[in-house]
Amino acid sequence: MKQPLTAPHTVFGIEKWGKDMIVVLENGEVGLKNPLVPEAPAVSLPGILRDLDDRGVHMPLVLRVSSYLENEIRHLNESFRAAIARTGYKGTYRGVFPIKVNQQAQVVDRIVAFGQDYDYGLEAGSKPELVIALAHRLAKNALIICNGIKDAEFIRLAILSRQLGFNTVIVLESPKEAETVIQVHKELGIDPIIGVRVKLTNQISGKWEESSGDRSAFGMNTDQLMAVVDKLRDAGLLHCLKLQHSHLGSQVADVNDVRRAVGEACRYYTELKREGVPLTHLDLGGGMGVDYTGEKKAADNSINYTVPEYCANVVETVQYALDEAEVDHPTLVTESGRAVVATSSMLIFNVLEATFYDAPNAPEAEASDHHMVSDLIAINDYLAADRLQECWNDAMFYRNELRALFRRGFINLRQMARAERIYLHLMARIKTLVDGIDGPTGMEDQLEKLADIYHCNFSLFQSLPDVWAIDQLHPIAPLQMLNQPTDRRAVLSDITCDSDGKVDKFILADGVSPSLPVHTLPEDQPYYMGVFFVGAYQETLGDLHNLFGDTNVVTIDLRADGGFDLLHEQEGDTIRQVMSYVEFDPDDCVSAFRKMVDEAISDGTLKSKDRKLLMGAYRDSINGYTYYE
Ligand SMILES: *Cc1c(COP(=O)(O)O)cnc(C)c1O
Repeated sequence: MKQPLTAPHTVFGIEKWGKDMIVVLENGEVGLKNPLVPEAPAVSLPGILRDLDDRGVHMPLVLRVSSYLENEIRHLNESFRAAIARTGYKGTYRGVFPIKVNQQAQVVDRIVAFGQDYDYGLEAGSKPELVIALAHRLAKNALIICNGIKDAEFIRLAILSRQLGFNTVIVLESPKEAETVIQVHKELGIDPIIGVRVKLTNQISGKWEESSGDRSAFGMNTDQLMAVVDKLRDAGLLHCLKLQHSHLGSQVADVNDVRRAVGEACRYYTELKREGVPLTHLDLGGGMGVDYTGEKKAADNSINYTVPEYCANVVETVQYALDEAEVDHPTLVTESGRAVVATSSMLIFNVLEATFYDAPNAPEAEASDHHMVSDLIAINDYLAADRLQECWNDAMFYRNELRALFRRGFINLRQMARAERIYLHLMARIKTLVDGIDGPTGMEDQLEKLADIYHCNFSLFQSLPDVWAIDQLHPIAPLQMLNQPTDRRAVLSDITCDSDGKVDKFILADGVSPSLPVHTLPEDQPYYMGVFFVGAYQETLGDLHNLFGDTNVVTIDLRADGGFDLLHEQEGDTIRQVMSYVEFDPDDCVSAFRKMVDEAISDGTLKSKDRKLLMGAYRDSINGYTYYE
């Protein structure tokens, strides 16, 4: 609960998790730094939001920073190049971006553009994703890797695309898929490029434990693998088997898990080579993590390595294993998704109002008070730093007794309201006393339960599905007033009417906390919150809970002179759009409403001149944004 005496913003740990992209400006606003142009001044994020507001783009919105995306793609590819150059590895690196991690055209198109210099390709885990991949002009040597369960149609398109010069690899997930490939090859007479997905037995630790090891849903065991090799050989297609694939799961926290898995993958690679399989590519899947908490350790939501360290580990492990087996170094492929896109998007919303769990002043005692109300008021007289727990206990006791009396009809609503206010005032005084004490008071846990509720203009289910579903943590911070000490603690509640729609775990400088330090809401300006690193997985996993739709999405570039360019605006869903997603015809609804209005006029319960107002209100809503405007 302590407020630091200097630099009030340090409580948020932005220095720790901000990766030198998110910084605090002298005026207390959050700034965005362009890592590609380190000498460029940081751009005020609230400044960008004010500008967007002037242009008619309102809260909530997802802000995509194109410069960050470009930076991550360069960083990944340059790090592999550097590791290869430093170790004398005799192969190259050809990364692919897995489309499922962010399928938005604005993101995929830019990834392809930024990846041209690096022969960077795409990974498709389904037919729709392959269709998207094939609509892009990739660099000549770039790969398209097809994973997932594939039917004949999927495989046919993958093979035919080779005629346009695409290096489309069909990664076999099972012996049955090998049969389909053999079948389609017969039909088309065009050689496919084939890969095999092996199931590694090493299990990684963390949230995605189950996507690795024996029981993972994908990939073949050794027996199935041999069956596939034999089938391809019999069909005269073994010469097409070029790539070996494995994928560990996401957000691998410990780099030693990467090393072990790569080591195991190399064993398969060398054994397959010994079987006469002409492999040339080793694909190690995705899994590179993001340090959401900035803790730099192998823990949930953190990782114990950097991008260059990951790349160096991969290159060195493969080099060592294959040199030992006297096998040529393969082209290295990885399918990092999260690490490439997570940092480039942030969700921004305004706080609409606050429910305080304390009250600045208490009512005076009155002669007519119930004696327990007087007892509650009396706590004020003996509340002191050395009697905190005792006063807390007393306050809870009287408040609960009074609630019981109210329920049974022994005290009235006005008395109950007085009791509630006195109780909240006592809590305010206890919070202040605790804040003034150096060191732990033993009250911290109780007080966490008394955090304010800040009601915010967003839907957790639509915009932060992983926070709801898998306890993902994203750094969250107010975007302004960071040069002033925070004076309250809050949990953030969204605007759905679902009690699950709240955020109550926050990454702070000294660890994860159940409440976020915040300022009393200013009266003369909006209070913006930012949720950072939401570029991976959040956008299409989100749902339409309460029919809150897609938010506005804005893509910007950070300019070298400290300004920004608006590259693209995607308007969020209107109510009309979300209605049609659940198969309501908006025009039919307008007609139905109009019919009721006209009937009311006929019945004389509504005046003709009120028709325009009613219809206007209904129409304005239907054409508007689903969020608080
Ligand atoms: C999801 C997935 C990826 C991406 O994983 P990240 O953890 O986001 O890097 C890569 N390859 C395959 C096969 C996947 O299913």
